Amino acid sequence: MTQARAGERPSGSEAPGGAGDEIVSARLVAWLDEVLAGRAPNTGRFCGNCYHPRQAGDGDCPHCGTPTAETATVESVPLDVIEGHRRRRGREGAVVRTIAWAGLTTGVALALVPLAFAGVTWWSVTAFFGLMIFFYIFSANVANSLGDAWGYRWGLAIFRRYWEQHVAARSDGSAGGA
Ligand SMILES: [Zn+2]
Repeated sequence: MTQARAGERPSGSEAPGGAGDEIVSARLVAWLDEVLAGRAPNTGRFCGNCYHPRQAGDGDCPHCGTPTAETATVESVPLDVIEGHRRRRGREGAVVRTIAWAGLTTGVALALVPLAFAGVTWWSVTAFFGLMIFFYIFSANVANSLGDAWGYRWGLAIFRRYWEQHVAARSDGSAGGA
């Protein structure tokens, strides 16, 4: 099941086509998170092709293999790539929160049923709290498993759109960047 690392691919950073494949390097994703959180400024040294963070004198890009002599490194990541990452993370969070809230709302509605039909008795009150606790744990688990997986794919699809637009604009020389 494990796929070849993108770092072994000499030509570009495009994923082999699976929906679950990361588009840019894990180090760039981690770095984009730092920028979004305000813990890092958008300056440094990055591959001019895949924006993998680079060190002085590291030769060809360790992620996509692009020779530095061929494509010069850049000093910041283009803003549309950062925006794509911001939208990605936003969507991931929204999917998880929506599932958690949907689960809790269902739980409240179901927990009220015994109270509505039987009034306040020891068992309907017990059922109310039991169902609330069950749905609280249940929706947290579904949000963290299913919600995480859906959010990941959806967020990655959003980022892929931004990335492909950026690469297309870059190759016709109209990339705005900053
Ligand atoms: Zn690269």
